[in-house]
Amino acid sequence: MKTKPPNSEKPFNVPQPIRVDGAGGPDLGPRDVMRDLENPDLLVPPVTDSGLVPNLKMSFSDTHMQLNQGGWSREITVRDLPIATTLAGVNMSLTPGGVRELHWHQQAEWAYMIWGGARITSIDANGRNFIADVGPGDLWYFPAGLPHSIQGLAEGCEFLLVFDDGHFSDLNTLSISDWFAHTPKDVLSANFGVPESAFDSIPSEQVYIYQDQPPGPLASQEVQSPYGTTPLSFKHRLLAQAPLQTSGGSVRIVDSTNFPISKTVAAALVEIKPGAMRELHWHPNNDEWQYYLTGQGRMTVFAGNGAARTFDYRAGDVGYVPFAFGHYIQNTGDETLWFLEIFKSDRFVDISLNQWMALTPRQLVQNNLHVGPELIEHLQKVKSPVVKHPGFTYYPK
Ligand code: MN
Ligand code: MN
Repeated sequence: MKTKPPNSEKPFNVPQPIRVDGAGGPDLGPRDVMRDLENPDLLVPPVTDSGLVPNLKMSFSDTHMQLNQGGWSREITVRDLPIATTLAGVNMSLTPGGVRELHWHQQAEWAYMIWGGARITSIDANGRNFIADVGPGDLWYFPAGLPHSIQGLAEGCEFLLVFDDGHFSDLNTLSISDWFAHTPKDVLSANFGVPESAFDSIPSEQVYIYQDQPPGPLASQEVQSPYGTTPLSFKHRLLAQAPLQTSGGSVRIVDSTNFPISKTVAAALVEIKPGAMRELHWHPNNDEWQYYLTGQGRMTVFAGNGAARTFDYRAGDVGYVPFAFGHYIQNTGDETLWFLEIFKSDRFVDISLNQWMALTPRQLVQNNLHVGPELIEHLQKVKSPVVKHPGFTYYPK
C-alpha cells in the first residue's frame, strides 16, 4: 500500500500488520503511522514472540521537558517505565555557564557525558573536596548523600544521569537554595555568624538550574581544603579505556574494579557495527537499564515459560531487561549502534549462551537441543560480546 506523506513527492510504504506467511490483515486506521514505522517488531512480531512480557521501552522523546534559564532536563523513572525499579535516568543539557545548583540526594548519581564539557564539584564527609572538568565519554559518580554541582563550560554540554533507585526524581532533591528559603533568617544569622541582612537577596524557592557566566580555567577556581582532595576520584575517562575489540564491535566495561568509587553502578559501553549483534546472553546479578546513544536496533527479551517479546530502539530510547532474562541486540540500521548497559551493582557480569554451551559436555548439549556437530564444533569457549559472522549478519526486511 503506497501513499504520499504531505509535502512530499516521494511515496513510501505504509507498514501493515501482515506477516510474510499472510497472518494478520491491513490496519486502515485510525493509527499512528510514525509510531508503527519506529516499531516494526511490535507491528509484525517475529513468530517466536509470545506470552506475557511487560513493556521494556521508553523514549526520552515521550517525556516532559523541564525548561530553565541555563538548560533543560527530562527523566525516565518508574512513573514512566514501571518495570524499571532498580535505576532511574535523567537526560540533561546545560548552556555555556548554565548550572545545576548545589544539591544532594539519597541516591548515588552515575553520569555519562554525551557532548560538551562541564565542571563538577563535591566534598566528602571528611572535608576533602573534588573539583574537575569532564568531557565527552567521561563518567562521574557521586556517592549517595554527598553534595555536588554541575556547570556547563564554554560550549555547554549534554549528559545522561543514572540514579540507583527507579523511584528517584531529579525534581525532588535536596537543594541549597531550597534549604535557605525554608530556614528562619535568624537561624541562618546564628549559624554563619553574620547579620540577617546578609540573606536579604537569597532565592525564595528552589533554583534547580540557573544561568551563570562560564567559569574560568580550573586553576582559577581551585579551593584548597586543609584535608586535601577525596582519596578516590569521582571522575572516570571511559573512552580513554582500551576497548575489548570483537568481530562485530567493541565493549568497554566500567565498575568498582576500575572506577573504585562507583560501588553501586556498573556499566558497559557497547558498539555494534551494522549487521552485527550483541550476542545472546544474560546477567546473573541484576536488571539491565539501557540507553541508546546512536543508531537503531532491536532486542528480544526471553522471560521463560514460552514468553518472549521484541522491541525496537533508537538513539534517545531507554530499554530494560529484568534480572537474568535472556536477550540479544541486533543493529538494524546502516550506522554504528552505540548503547550503554547499566546495572545497580558493584560489578559488570554476564553469561554468554555460546560460552556456556562450549564449556558443557558435548553430549548434553547435542541431545538436549537435538543439534549436531555443525553447531557444536562452532561453539566459542572465549566470550565474544558483539559478533558478526560473515554470511550470517542481520539484513533489513
Ligand atoms: Mn545530583
Ligand atoms: Mn545485556
